Amino acid sequence: MPYREFGGMPAHPKAGKDCVKCGLCAKRCPAGAIPTERPDTTDPEKCITCMRCVAVCPKKARSLPAPMLLASKTMLSVKAAGYKKPQTFL
Ligand code: SF4
Ligand code: SF4
Repeated sequence: MPYREFGGMPAHPKAGKDCVKCGLCAKRCPAGAIPTERPDTTDPEKCITCMRCVAVCPKKARSLPAPMLLASKTMLSVKAAGYKKPQTFL
């Protein structure tokens, strides 16, 4: 609280030079964010940053931009550090 308006995900995976344009990521993307004719790209308006394309790519060619990956890792290492007491919301 207070609630904030969701402004979309700040980062989206893209394919690097190892992409062979097999199209598997485009087939498996649940949001239709990877065009079949250009599977090395990502539509940031549609991408929900679920990371499925990264998981399924046989060439390990998809990833988040390095600075964003580092920022996420730093943020999570702070937020996920230590034991959190369970809370109940009524
Ligand atoms: S699955 Fe990987 S190699 Fe295939 S098109 Fe997508 S990014 Fe390229
Ligand atoms: S992160 Fe998820 S939604 Fe975004 S392009 Fe990859 S599979 Fe699609």
